Amino acid sequence: MALVNEHFLKLPGSYLFSDIAKKVNSYRVTHPNSRILRLGIGDVTRPLPQACIEAMHRAVDEMASSATFHGYGPEQGYDFLKDAILKHDYAARGVHLSPSEVFINDGAKSDTGNVGELLRWDNSMGITDPVYPVYVDSNIMCGRSGVLGEDGRWSNVEYLPCTETNNFVPELPKHRVDLIYLCYPNNPTGTTLTHEQLRQWVNYALANDTLIVFDAAYEAFISEDNVPHSIYEIRGARKVAIEIRSFSKTAGFTGVRCGYTVVPKEVTAVTLTGERVSLNQLWNRRQCTKFNGVSYISQRAAEAVYTPEGRKQVQDNIDYYMKNAQTMRTALESVGLRVYGGVNAPYLWLKTPKEMGSWKFFERMLYECQIVGTPGVGFGPSGEGFLRLSAFGSHEDCEEAMERIRKWIG
Ligand code: PLP
Repeated sequence: MALVNEHFLKLPGSYLFSDIAKKVNSYRVTHPNSRILRLGIGDVTRPLPQACIEAMHRAVDEMASSATFHGYGPEQGYDFLKDAILKHDYAARGVHLSPSEVFINDGAKSDTGNVGELLRWDNSMGITDPVYPVYVDSNIMCGRSGVLGEDGRWSNVEYLPCTETNNFVPELPKHRVDLIYLCYPNNPTGTTLTHEQLRQWVNYALANDTLIVFDAAYEAFISEDNVPHSIYEIRGARKVAIEIRSFSKTAGFTGVRCGYTVVPKEVTAVTLTGERVSLNQLWNRRQCTKFNGVSYISQRAAEAVYTPEGRKQVQDNIDYYMKNAQTMRTALESVGLRVYGGVNAPYLWLKTPKEMGSWKFFERMLYECQIVGTPGVGFGPSGEGFLRLSAFGSHEDCEEAMERIRKWIG
């Protein structure tokens, strides 16, 4: 008889997107002729950059001949891709890492979830609230989150509210934590930390021997100079931070699957007897056992992101989405709504009018102007009273949606 990992049974159902789908579906059935505009999705809609398409075609052709065929690749990723990452994403910003500190992944979700395996189950942890749900759920799975309280909070998780009052900049934890997840630019709020604000987190981690998991999946959307692209731009961060990035939103790879995780050699955790262990070594060991690398074709496509044509095409796609974000911000503010984000991230965080609850506002927007957003409370208790809007749709839909909202609210 196999005994189940009972921590899995504590997981709340992932109701948010299925609840949204159900509500949208029942609206569709009763209003078959209305055109619903979806601003809730977190998936990209633009096709892959041409440079990536061409690189994939070439890689497929290589697979067709025994002379150029590629079977298993290095678990940590091919050097051609790591070298491009190190040169363009890091050295260009004054950050010098070695190839053995970069691990190519199949997108950021797996590694944001897996990285906790390197740590004992009884570490304490902190998360910003609202938050990308994978951080909490993956810790529930190994028993690290504790038990769920009646207020919807987990007993072993320190929640760091990101609200209008603190301008969505979380305060440092009141109690010391061993592990903290930071995601900047942020999903869902679309807000960022400046160099100075991130420095306070790094200093906290250095002073408290805290490990930071820094999710920079939306790094490519940063447009302001005072926003760091990598946590390693902050002095001392390579002692305390693991950084995770993805080509999903940067280059439209949500269906291709490729990203990377940086585990610097200096990052350590301690044994119960006080011995310091390099997490780079442990992560390498873990990957060699549990992961057989990302496909050669996907890695060649990712490499093409860094060619001159690839960089231009990636930027064109990002500009396309950020034009939507700008359109939304302008329109929503023009009717007196309060809205955050959308400057360095493809998400807008809309304050519901008249203190309306997230779900109530979601339903009214669906029924009164046929627009779908994502209720903020689905990302954590501090998301109540907000709605997340995504800039990943088409210009046409985005403009029409804003026109409808202008008429509705205005
Ligand atoms: N991290 C954040 C904050 C995200 O919003 C997402 C996806 O929406 C991911 C990670 C995962 O992206 P992927 O696994 O496609 O790289």
